[in-house]
Formats: sequence, C-alpha cells, structure tokens
Amino acid sequence: MKKLVFATGNMNKLREIKQILEGLDVEVLSMKEAGVDVDIVEDGTTFEENALIKARAVSKASGHLALADDSGLEVDALDKEPGIYSARYMGEDTSYDIKNANIIERLEGVPDEKRTARFVCAMAAVFPDGTEKTFVRTMEGRIGYEIAGANGFGYDPIFYLPEYGKTSAEISPEEKNAISHRGKALRALADYLKDKDF
Ligand code: IMP
Repeated sequence: MKKLVFATGNMNKLREIKQILEGLDVEVLSMKEAGVDVDIVEDGTTFEENALIKARAVSKASGHLALADDSGLEVDALDKEPGIYSARYMGEDTSYDIKNANIIERLEGVPDEKRTARFVCAMAAVFPDGTEKTFVRTMEGRIGYEIAGANGFGYDPIFYLPEYGKTSAEISPEEKNAISHRGKALRALADYLKDKDF
C-alpha cells in the first residue's frame, strides 16, 4: 500500500485528511507514526511557501510523500491581516474570544461592503524525488459585527457567510467542509494524487 505523511501535530486535521483520501488506497501516517521529529521554522512570506517548507522538511526526513497545509484569515480592511500570522495574532496563547473581539473592534465604522474577508488554505505535496505541487483555495465571507456560533474553531465565530445568513461557526461541520478553503484544497490535492505513483 502507498504511504504518505501528513505534516501536522493536529489530530483533527489528520482525521479530516484521512476521510478525504479514503478512496485512494493510501496509508496516511502522522509525523509521529513515521518517526519524524524535526523542528520546522515557518519563515515563508505566503501560505504556499509555509506549506512547502513543512512538506519539504517532512518528505526529506521520512523518505515518503509528505503533505502539509498552511491557512489563515485575510481581512481586506486590515490590509489582509492577520494572514500568515493568524495563529500568532496578539500572541499564540491569547484566546480567540479576545482575538475575535479585537478584529471586530478594529473594524468599527467599516460598512458591510468593506468588511470582506477570506479564509485561505494552501496544501502542498512534496514527493521523495523532490517533485512539488501546491493547491491554494479560499472561502469568501465578511467580518460580522458580533461573535456568534460554537462550531468550528479560531476565527469562525466572526466569519459571516452572507449566503447562509450565519457565521462559519453556526453551520454544521459537514456544511463547512463542503465549502471551506481546507476542504476545497484537500479535495483538489486528493484528485491530483489519484493517478500518481509514490
Ligand atoms: P495553521 O494551523 O498554521 O494553518 O493555522 C491557521 C490559523 O488560521 C488557525 O490557528 C486559525 O487562527 C486560522 N484558521 C485557519 N482556518 C480556519 C478556519 O477554518 N476557521 C477558523 N480559523 C481558521
């Protein structure tokens, strides 16, 4: 059976990718299962670069095809902040209640049409022979006026989806997977891997 390593320590992401790659007859290993213990410095300037940095390091260390993702929120009225610094915005240990309240506060007085934002996900694949492939996908929405919803994580409670009249923390996980930046990037990658040898 073909094997690949997913470069994340996040068990939710690992479960998600296993589900989406289910039909592919491939064994998805965590870094731990692959015996990979590398310190990776994510010093890229784009989501795509950071995903590639992680996938390259894990492919090199494991000798297998490695996949990695990098994602975040871009708020247009804030010059695309927090962007690649989404997890680190206001400090890694600051709660999302505080981060989300801060973003709403910074958008005070900004009208609906200028509150546009998007979640971005870059998925990278690096093969043992060095071949690289990336997919970048987005989910478009707006920054709401209040925190709403308990599903999802991170910035979901302030990410308003006009076509649903709800935030991405108020729709079900299945609904979110179908339209999310990560779901789309993962499905594009799964489709690409279908006829690849690795
Ligand atoms: P990553 O795990 O390094 O890709 O960090 C991505 C960060 O971006 C997360 O910690 C969240 O702050 C944010 N983010 C990415 N995707 C989502 C999402 O689907 N909902 C809410 N926040 C997200």
